[in-house]
Amino acid sequence: MKRYYSLSDYFKKTYGEKWIKLSVDGGFTCPNRDGTLSHQGCVFCSEEGSGEFAGLIQSGVKAFASNIEAQIESQKKLLSKKWNAESYIAYFQNYTNTYKPIEALDILYKEALGCAGIKGLVVSTRPDCVRAEHIDLFKHNHVLWVELGLQSVHDEKSEWLNRHYSYSDFKRAFDLLSVAGIQVVVHLIAGLPGEGKEDFLESVRTISTLKPFGVKFHMLNIVEGTEMARLFKIAHWPMLSESTYIEWICDAIEMLDPDIVIHRLTGDAHKSKLIEPKWILNKRSVLNGIDKCLVARNSKQGIKVLE
Ligand code: SF4
Repeated sequence: MKRYYSLSDYFKKTYGEKWIKLSVDGGFTCPNRDGTLSHQGCVFCSEEGSGEFAGLIQSGVKAFASNIEAQIESQKKLLSKKWNAESYIAYFQNYTNTYKPIEALDILYKEALGCAGIKGLVVSTRPDCVRAEHIDLFKHNHVLWVELGLQSVHDEKSEWLNRHYSYSDFKRAFDLLSVAGIQVVVHLIAGLPGEGKEDFLESVRTISTLKPFGVKFHMLNIVEGTEMARLFKIAHWPMLSESTYIEWICDAIEMLDPDIVIHRLTGDAHKSKLIEPKWILNKRSVLNGIDKCLVARNSKQGIKVLE
């Protein structure tokens, strides 16, 4: 048993078994990419819309996929080597997965739900692309949770990120979903340039008080082809070391409400495209480091909330 509330503990507690997430590419774009808000996208957003592992995988290489079922079957085949599961979730991950007309979304979501073993959907989107008309759609299509990329509660960072939405936009979407009983997972990034530990922990504290269903923590990655890679090559700001990241994440876990499910403690990136930090490629080392740090502190999730 972990010292934090992990997603696999949530699945076991709620459904009595492990459920596997399969990342699918619904052929979306994003208003921050197609010129509606900007052509540039968020500074960290890659060509794949921050969803490098979504889609049809053949021999470890992402290939063109014309339909959702083919993507789901290819991912099931790939993951069956690692896990023996019969229950799956289709995860609409890359770009903005509510950025199509409602009728088109309905067809797409139903296609995923109709695939063998798919028990529900996860939809990742921008707060400004969540409106009242999406609520019924989510309920009818068994959307288990909606993921909102926030990264930081500090609006001055939003400009640097070229995010094109504010904390109050996020809060409006969060409230709309929460009041309707739809679970929300919030993404936060540690190590943004100009943000120290206290800035990051302030984001964590603010989100914890909202009591979302879940959070995802990411270390800032510099990936080839992004605006951030271009900026990094000029400014070369210092990145967090693995040990500092582990310390920050343990502090964050301690101040996170114990009922919030931690969906992710470190990020993924393609080795060939990752510029910095290289240590994130050894995910096992980061996760073990977090476990060891919590044991050494005799600590656990929420210990600083309960005090
Ligand atoms: S909102 Fe998401 S898909 Fe759109 S530019 Fe930002 S990271 Fe990329």
